[in-house]
Amino acid sequence: METQTQFFRDTWAEINLDHLYENVKNIKGHIPDDVNVFAVVKANAYGHGDVQTSLTALAAGAHGLAVAFLDEAISLRRGGIAAPILVLGATRPKDVKIASQLDISLTVFHKEWLVEAEKQLSKEDHLRLHIKCDTGMGRIGVRTSEELKSIEGYIHSHPKFELQGIFTHFATADELNDDYLEEQLRRFEYMLQQLESLPAYIHSSNSAATLRKTNTLFNAVRVGIAMYGLTPSIEMKPELPFPLKEVFSLHSRLIHTKELEAGEKVSYGATYEASESEWIGTIPIGYADGWLRKLQGQDVLVDGKRVPIVGRICMDQCMVRLPESRPIGTRVTLIGKQVEAAITMDEIAQKLDTINYEIPCIISTRVPRIYIRNGEATEVSNKLLSTGMDSQRENNAPFDE
Ligand SMILES: *Cc1c(COP(=O)(O)O)cnc(C)c1O
Repeated sequence: METQTQFFRDTWAEINLDHLYENVKNIKGHIPDDVNVFAVVKANAYGHGDVQTSLTALAAGAHGLAVAFLDEAISLRRGGIAAPILVLGATRPKDVKIASQLDISLTVFHKEWLVEAEKQLSKEDHLRLHIKCDTGMGRIGVRTSEELKSIEGYIHSHPKFELQGIFTHFATADELNDDYLEEQLRRFEYMLQQLESLPAYIHSSNSAATLRKTNTLFNAVRVGIAMYGLTPSIEMKPELPFPLKEVFSLHSRLIHTKELEAGEKVSYGATYEASESEWIGTIPIGYADGWLRKLQGQDVLVDGKRVPIVGRICMDQCMVRLPESRPIGTRVTLIGKQVEAAITMDEIAQKLDTINYEIPCIISTRVPRIYIRNGEATEVSNKLLSTGMDSQRENNAPFDE
């Protein structure tokens, strides 16, 4: 694996695109052929890397992509992606021009937004829109049929706009009790009945609903977490219709080892004390990488065995207790598999009192991502050493004010 020119620290995340491909294929196989999959790649594809993830999901049969913000959609277009892209969150009306120029579909839920957006567009511009319905998530969306009808009417009477889709989002799809979900579904179906005509895309399901339900699929689904090989909740893990394969793993190497005598201390606060003669290894990852201080005491894998992190986690480094002397350069796996042993995203989430979604998102961009395709490391994305905006500005005129 010759990637030495692309990062210069012994800590990296491996993004297994073969697993991602398989997860998307399995999701496709689980739902009817005429249901389109929108791969949800917001937040840099949940920390996995937006462009690489998107290309793999599309190759595996995803129809389009969904992100939270317009900036994320622009980043994908700049990455050369031509597939349909939907921005799920709010976009400011003053920013609609670039969305129209890059053929990015936006979400609408205010009539006034349309009035403002219309002023930004010239006659020949075309903007595709999805109406968001709030059926019980209480986040964004229209809540009444009056609002819905006035938005639909405005779109239909202004040819710059195209009503491309309508959607809602479930608050409890990852819980096994379906009462609240069914209530949301009834409200969404009522809203659909209020429309003069149905748009091309009707969608309500996230990963959990896509995997668990058959009556929520309509003709499109928005799948995020399952594509990354993670279960939407611990509760529904036993109900998964096929095994999900984790895409993200996190690795480092021993950069220093030493033998401490009983009574010698480790790290800030000198809170850890060797109780006997102990081998201590240092790895170059810390809380600035998203390996948070609360992970003190968490196990990592060395030579296929669990060993604990000891002492406080520093900004850039932390220490582990080794069963014996190990050479510098020995691989340390913080999330992922070594031989028979595994540390899952769910284990780390549990240790941090949170959900698995948060973990790859908080592993910071200081950690380079290595992409695995056909079992081989093919590409490194290192945000620290990437050229940034300047070189890209020239060929993207829409940024000029
Ligand atoms: C993030 C998001 C999704 C994807 O949810 P998963 O649980 O990751 O599948 C779908 N729809 C909307 C509106 C979202 O914000």
